[in-house]
Amino acid sequence: MGLYIILIGVQGAGKGVQAQFITRDYGIPQISTGDLFRAMKTRTDALAQEIQRIMAEGKLISDDITNRVVEERLQQPDVAHGAIFDGYPRTPDQAAWLEQHLAKKGEKIGAVLYMKLDFYDAFRRAFGRVRAASGDAFNVYSQAEAIEWKWVDHPEKAHPPRLEAWLKGSNEKLERRPDDASADAIIKRIDIFRATTAPLLDYYRAKGLVHEVDAAASIEAVTDQIKSILDTLR
Ligand code: AMP
Repeated sequence: MGLYIILIGVQGAGKGVQAQFITRDYGIPQISTGDLFRAMKTRTDALAQEIQRIMAEGKLISDDITNRVVEERLQQPDVAHGAIFDGYPRTPDQAAWLEQHLAKKGEKIGAVLYMKLDFYDAFRRAFGRVRAASGDAFNVYSQAEAIEWKWVDHPEKAHPPRLEAWLKGSNEKLERRPDDASADAIIKRIDIFRATTAPLLDYYRAKGLVHEVDAAASIEAVTDQIKSILDTLR
């Protein structure tokens, strides 16, 4: 029997980091439908182009297409002992399809790990994230003591001055990633997560598969929580 796990968590909950540890310790690959769709960017066929168009609009790809892409991925040899699903399933219909597909191979989902993070914390993890030119990352909320703020005149003096963040004791300016810079866009992503996740969690709760993980804890503590859940499945 393989180990099939579903990771659910809002952006910033640390799914990527924890998936890396699960892959390393349990020998199963991470299957992210978002990554699979993004990898199709270079393809010129009609299906791939349609997918890029839908993604750019921030909408969901149809269940039928998504399930077909997952089916293809599950045929690769590295999935022989299981997989970690990330960003999939997104709808109860996808969940039902996955269940049937695995059942045909005598497999089933072992656990749904809900990496629970307060939505305001999720916002602060994304909106507060800044990077120095050296690549070192900081968070303006949780590491406020390392950061110095400066009012800087706007180049076109008609606008109000800008607030800039600098690393204390150095001359390094701290910058946000462009996709973290819009508070509205971050709130929208969190809202979509909340709306789409609720029915999915209900679906898996009814099957007794959901394990809640406190994603606000340190990376190591979260890893320990996940380890103890997965070790009971073995
Ligand atoms: P993600 O990286 O998981 O946020 O996915 C990026 C985009 O890919 C989403 O906004 C959707 O357009 C599409 N996508 C990813 N996973 C799914 C899924 N399970 N069902 C439908 N669309 C998906």
